[in-house]
Amino acid sequence: MEKDILIQEINRLRKEKNAVILAHYYQEKDIQDIADFVGDSLELSKKAAATSADMIVFAGVHFMAETAKILNPEKTVVLPDLNAGCSLADGCKAEDFIKWKAQYPGHKVVTYINCSADIKTLSDVVCTSSNAKKIIESFPQDQPILFAPDRNLGKYLQNETNRDLVLWDGSCIVHEAFSLDKLIALYKEYPKAKIVAHPESETQILKVAHYIGSTSGMLNYIVSSDAEIFIVATEAGILHKLAQDAPGKTLIPAPAYEDNTCACSECAFMKLNTLEKLYRCMKYGYPEIKVSEETRLKALVPIQRMLELS
Ligand code: SF4
Repeated sequence: MEKDILIQEINRLRKEKNAVILAHYYQEKDIQDIADFVGDSLELSKKAAATSADMIVFAGVHFMAETAKILNPEKTVVLPDLNAGCSLADGCKAEDFIKWKAQYPGHKVVTYINCSADIKTLSDVVCTSSNAKKIIESFPQDQPILFAPDRNLGKYLQNETNRDLVLWDGSCIVHEAFSLDKLIALYKEYPKAKIVAHPESETQILKVAHYIGSTSGMLNYIVSSDAEIFIVATEAGILHKLAQDAPGKTLIPAPAYEDNTCACSECAFMKLNTLEKLYRCMKYGYPEIKVSEETRLKALVPIQRMLELS
């Protein structure tokens, strides 16, 4: 179907089905442009919790749509492509997590939102990169804490909070792909540039960053900074929103180890969603996200704690 027709049809279905389209910053630009709201994980969770729509079209990855379903059991939640997973969520299976957790009695469990509903049921509180520091600091200083599933975000939080967290050994395939050598070579070409990085990046990248923060934090920093040039170490989809919100600024994607056509990192999971698939999931109400009521009620508790704390 032609793009113009697809957009017309999506707009028609949005009214007919009383649907809201929530899109993550890492979605392709056509999806961001048609979304009712574009944001990072925390912002999208809040929108999902507050919506009065009957159908939530979640243009993101599976754990995000699952979180929206946990918050909205009575609504239809659809994901354009059910295979849109996440290396962090997929690398943290409940059976392994249960064994890991059992080794650390007396520890509280803080999990990054990038995990399955099953892992959330085993957690005391969920966090995103926007509120992780605040959530860790909500526990007494001497409270031992397990943090999963992103070891890079965990190491960053250890430094930020001066606490000795026990870390699950998981990582994001996109944020681990940035090359320090190439980044330094690029910085030499643009010595006035500010390097901004997401805390899922490796410690060596974070050490050279001028600003570290969530996707929204990076966006706000770049928009409000006096600097003109930025090297951006996160998924390349954010460049679309940045170009809209910070016109006139030069935005350079941080280079990855692998050479690719755009010299940047893209999340293959996020990019499984297309405008055509978005249209089809709205039309047919499929693939629909389902969560058993028992799991949902248990997973809701640490998500609600996060929303209260943030
Ligand atoms: S960018 Fe990384 S953390 Fe985000 S969905 Fe893709 S694999 Fe998961």
